[in-house]
Amino acid sequence: MLTALFVLLAFSSCPPLHPEAQRFECTGCGDCCRVEGDVWLNSQEIDAALESTNLTEVAFAAEFCDAAILPTPSSPSQRGSSGSFLRLRHATPGGGCALLDEEQKCSIYEARPLQCSTYPFWPRLLHSPQNWAAEASACEGIQPSAPEIDVPVATRQAEEWAAWLRRFPADYAAAADDARRWITDFVVPLSLCPYASAAAEMTRVSVSRSTTPASLAADVTSEARRLLLTPSVPTALVAAPAFTDLSEFLDIIYSLDESTGDPDLDGAILIAPFHPSFAFAGVDPASALHYEKRSPLPLVSILRAEDVEAIGGEEATARIAAANEEALLGRNGAEVAEIFKRLGRSGG
Ligand code: SF4
Ligand code: SF4
Repeated sequence: MLTALFVLLAFSSCPPLHPEAQRFECTGCGDCCRVEGDVWLNSQEIDAALESTNLTEVAFAAEFCDAAILPTPSSPSQRGSSGSFLRLRHATPGGGCALLDEEQKCSIYEARPLQCSTYPFWPRLLHSPQNWAAEASACEGIQPSAPEIDVPVATRQAEEWAAWLRRFPADYAAAADDARRWITDFVVPLSLCPYASAAAEMTRVSVSRSTTPASLAADVTSEARRLLLTPSVPTALVAAPAFTDLSEFLDIIYSLDESTGDPDLDGAILIAPFHPSFAFAGVDPASALHYEKRSPLPLVSILRAEDVEAIGGEEATARIAAANEEALLGRNGAEVAEIFKRLGRSGG
């Protein structure tokens, strides 16, 4: 089920099925839970997973998920799982789904998301004999000796999955990928934070669908509260793709840095903005130094103040900033710009 999510629904004309050639019976091998790819859960699927695991949404997300798309700002009263999407984490980098149990079986089988329960009856497989045959190399249940598929059942499942995909905000999922790639392919290899490598896997990336300062402030505040509740998550990144105007973005984040309006948060968190257009005043525009504060899309990094204190507080952050400056100034600006450009669609 972890195979590519972002399929084009190019099979809407739904060519007829060929049950005599399209044979399938699941063997329960679990291979489809151990391949590269993403599984996202919508809010109904999150609710089902919470019931199955008996966990709160905060605990479930911290343990099993590595990215979130936050609820639409039009439904602020529905914060929590409603209106959200969560992406399941891989148990190890490049490894199987985090929800596999010790016996490599799905631990929420009865409540597994639609992407999983409809596999392999996805439109791009079901309605293409070539794709169906090729999928046999990934799924041992697709084989000539298996029973013919049940056409009405398979067709209904393909339609359900196509409908799910149509409601999925793929652009925001791509923004989550851009944000994570910034950590793994830029911050870590350029040594811009000595803690990023160890923290990368458990960092929570969330994407805000906000378009107004008030709703972005609400999203950042909500993610900060969540961070304080989840010690296993070292840091949180909130991507805010709509805030392409640097000044507006910085105004919102600096104002939150002064006060979130929540006494439980003020003094307990540190927030730092990163933006594709960031530039230090008075520095050569071609200097690599600007990339200390640049990210491929507008981002807010949230840290717990006690974690920063534990590594040495302001002295340590000043040391890291000085080391970053030295590392970046030792690099060719064009070379750093090229690495940055390769990060994603928002890069450069
Ligand atoms: S790879 Fe195919 S046979 Fe194996 S568990 Fe998945 S659907 Fe079943
Ligand atoms: S949720 Fe369950 S069925 Fe889906 S990929 Fe994870 S382990 Fe497999």
